[in-house]
Amino acid sequence: MIYLDNAASSKPTRLALDSYAKLAELSFANASSPHKAGREANRYLEEARKRILKALRLEKTHSILFTSGATEANNLALKGVAFQYASRGKKIVSCLAEHSSVKNALKELQDQFGFEVVYLPVNSEGKVDIEELKKAMDSQTILVSLMAVNNEIGSINDVKTLASIVHQYPKAYFHVDATQAIGKEAFEYSCADLLTFSGHKFGGLKGNGALCYKKTIKFLPLASGGDQEYGYRSGTVDMPGAYAMSLALEEALKELPAHKAKAKELMSALEKGLKENPLLAINSPKDHTPFLVNFSLLKHKASVILEALSEKEIYVSSHSACDEKKVDPSETLLCMGYDEGRADNAIRVSFSPSNTVEEVETFLQTLSQILTEVKTR
Ligand code: PMP
Repeated sequence: MIYLDNAASSKPTRLALDSYAKLAELSFANASSPHKAGREANRYLEEARKRILKALRLEKTHSILFTSGATEANNLALKGVAFQYASRGKKIVSCLAEHSSVKNALKELQDQFGFEVVYLPVNSEGKVDIEELKKAMDSQTILVSLMAVNNEIGSINDVKTLASIVHQYPKAYFHVDATQAIGKEAFEYSCADLLTFSGHKFGGLKGNGALCYKKTIKFLPLASGGDQEYGYRSGTVDMPGAYAMSLALEEALKELPAHKAKAKELMSALEKGLKENPLLAINSPKDHTPFLVNFSLLKHKASVILEALSEKEIYVSSHSACDEKKVDPSETLLCMGYDEGRADNAIRVSFSPSNTVEEVETFLQTLSQILTEVKTR
């Protein structure tokens, strides 16, 4: 198999798997239990928190709570803050190119709870325009949610500058969905008042994510229960998963320069091949992350080509995995100015550091061959 869908999920690292197996077996007690075994599980949980906050250089300013993934973390960050601070103002600013776990959470706040949500467009490079953000901000804005790296096209937002605009408004908190950035594109994480991510995108296990938040922020909890995670996310915490995620995060950040150099090598081979084929056109901007590229099939249907590749055990993605069942063309690509045909027939290839140039060459050759065999749309 050639797995080129790492933005959807990547293989857990050996370190994360071994740690998970060990702790799930040896320290299975409930981390909230007051007995010795529970206290030991809790020690690991607190160590996982410290490791993550330290690796992200957030230990002085932020707290962290563990969730089942970025979807839950995004929902808690957005709804929890919106409900908590609704009396200060009811305006939220976000972007059309955000992940569905942000856009749909905000849609609910707008449709069912009377918040006003302003969705900024992206420019032709798939990024949020600073001037657009400036125009949208006002004294009623309590929350701004913008991602660091786009999951469909790999564009990179200038988080630091965006944060500096948001922070001119003292009532507004800045949420950054860093799910596609952690371990790939470093930025000043402390710019975000609320930072969310999922462990399985950087070598942790599926079912583990986190919300890092400025110590001064409070949330209205979305799940009521036994008051775990400071009362903001009740339910027994998956300590072995959280601990494995903390190790994966440390490793991903330590290896980031080497992993990025490898991804650049792979991306340069891939883009060279894509550019040589007149049936394809790259959609990602020039300065996209080297871990992910988006291109369109100019004459073929993406779903048909994806299936043909899958038959040969080559795995890539159209749109993002979470939106796979949708038939609508990509809103992000439309917003960048591409036409419907192009936005409807996009393919995303995403790397992990264990991919090889040989795999990229095989993918390119197989794709070219399939494009000559399969009928056009
Ligand atoms: N945000 C972004 C940018 C993502 O790419 C993803 C995963 N596709 C998510 C949030 C949601 O992550 P999860 O499915 O692990 O909850």
